[in-house]
Amino acid sequence: MTPRLLFIEDNAALLQNLYDYFEGRGYRLDSARDGLAGLRLASGGDCDLIVLDLGLPRLDGLDLCRRLRAELAVQTPILILTARDAVEQRVAGLRAGADDYLIKPFALAELEARIEALLRRSRPGQTPLTAYADLTLDVANAHAERAGHTLALTPTELKLLEALLRAAPRLVRRSELEHLLWPDQPPDSDALRTHIHGLRQAVDRPFARPLIETVRGLGYRLVDPDAD
Ligand code: CA
Repeated sequence: MTPRLLFIEDNAALLQNLYDYFEGRGYRLDSARDGLAGLRLASGGDCDLIVLDLGLPRLDGLDLCRRLRAELAVQTPILILTARDAVEQRVAGLRAGADDYLIKPFALAELEARIEALLRRSRPGQTPLTAYADLTLDVANAHAERAGHTLALTPTELKLLEALLRAAPRLVRRSELEHLLWPDQPPDSDALRTHIHGLRQAVDRPFARPLIETVRGLGYRLVDPDAD
């Protein structure tokens, strides 16, 4: 799932630069141009990280930060943007509950690196990744990729892939997979095969080397063709 960033920044030119840069990198973006609008969006809680300018009209960034943390108990990571000479502002920002700061003017690549670091810290274990060969599955977000390409999978295919990934490179028996999908009774003997076929279309067909192997009469497993 792509992270959603909230920029609270009154400088229109800087905001435009932020949009150009981060939209191009696949982030989802929201923004507010003053402190009160920012507070309203931030307290909605559906962004993953807030980039907060301190000098804002209507409600100062420091007050906004304090209110989010102390009054509204919002835990979203906050990165503050401050002026070069404002050491006491940076300290006050961190005391008010900000997680990091960046001094203006800054390189967008550095902002991105700090955002990535904060996002990593803020969700340890929340989105366990399961990986094998060039395949990754973000279980919590139901997002699978192979070699960096998103795989379009049905919920059933995601379940199958998760079971195969967790066992990889060991075999998972047909009966286990059937029990996983249909705890009461499998619909018919070809149903599992049909779903595996769909999974293969997404996971293996676009790529040179197949990962899903049929072990005849027993079940399926993932095998990395590059491993020995
Ligand atoms: Ca400002």
